[in-house]
Amino acid sequence: MKTNILITGGAGNIGSSLAKQLCINNNNHIIVVDNLSTGSMVKLPNSQENFTFINADCNNYQEVAKIFFKYSIDYVFHLAAVVGVQRTQDYPLRVLNDIRGIEYLLDLSKISGVKKFFYASSSEVYGEPVEIPQKEHSTPLNSKVPYAVVKNVGECYCRSYQKEYGLNYCIFRFFNTYGPYQTTDFVIPKFLIAAIKNQPLTIYGDGLQSRTFTYIDDTIGTIIRSFENNTINNDVLNVGNDEMISVLELAERIIKITDSKSKIQFLPALKEGDMSRRMPDNTNMIKILNRPLVSLEEGINKLLTNKTFLQLNGVNICAE
Ligand code: NAD
Repeated sequence: MKTNILITGGAGNIGSSLAKQLCINNNNHIIVVDNLSTGSMVKLPNSQENFTFINADCNNYQEVAKIFFKYSIDYVFHLAAVVGVQRTQDYPLRVLNDIRGIEYLLDLSKISGVKKFFYASSSEVYGEPVEIPQKEHSTPLNSKVPYAVVKNVGECYCRSYQKEYGLNYCIFRFFNTYGPYQTTDFVIPKFLIAAIKNQPLTIYGDGLQSRTFTYIDDTIGTIIRSFENNTINNDVLNVGNDEMISVLELAERIIKITDSKSKIQFLPALKEGDMSRRMPDNTNMIKILNRPLVSLEEGINKLLTNKTFLQLNGVNICAE
């Protein structure tokens, strides 16, 4: 009997990399559920016998219930969500609608005896920083934006299902993750592609807001090791690099690395949701991953030599 692992949002950046990694083990059967709103079939594993794709909306009970009735699901990774700073600000109701999906998935997991529910939360729950680095258990959660509120509610649902029904959970608070399957909706691909094309790099506000960036291999490595070694039980884990850099420095560094003629262009600051600083206490993550993290410089160079990333973002690699 194979282990049935359901990944919602599995056609997205993190989900597709996770699906590919889990597919390597032939004892796993990976079921990806995605409505392809921001995800894409291109990112999915192909021709793998132990992989099934289902186009469904997690916020529609009937559609999700059918999957749980068809397969005996052992583990759930709930990654599907409305994402992206601009999109989540423009469509707050769409964001809030994701609360339904969280509840449906937890409920179906409870009914069908899922062994563990892995939930993709976000560093956004910390909001405007009260302290740096941000610690899983002691840093107050300080945000009112719908995206962060939904993640916070999702975490609370996990804890509550555990308390009342004994459903085991693991919450990952992802900090900015970047990798080859990302498009220019995200800051590193946006800057890299603009720099390659010698176009302006646009920054909201003065660019002094600082961030940390986690290479996808570190994010996936942490998820896989937490899963396989059963390390995080009914608890929360920050998943992020702690190398902090301002958005302005990032733009300057990318222009330098790519030897670009691009200029930096400043746009009005976003009204909300653009936190001044964010940095994880990743002590627990490092213990789990048990190897050094990919540095920003290394990660950027990996993207610059990655054909998939360049092609996905419309860079003619023959001409480069
Ligand atoms: P992504 O947009 O690449 O992936 C999300 C996937 O979910 C997409 O494939 C999309 O089509 C799918 N989806 C959205 N709503 C759906 C629905 N109702 N039903 C079915 N599928 C749906 O984003 P990602 O970067 O891979 O993020 C994965 C998860 O991690 C998300 O929950 C996100 O909030 C969280 N997260 C990511 C980051 C990051 O830096 N990438 C940081 C913090 C949190």
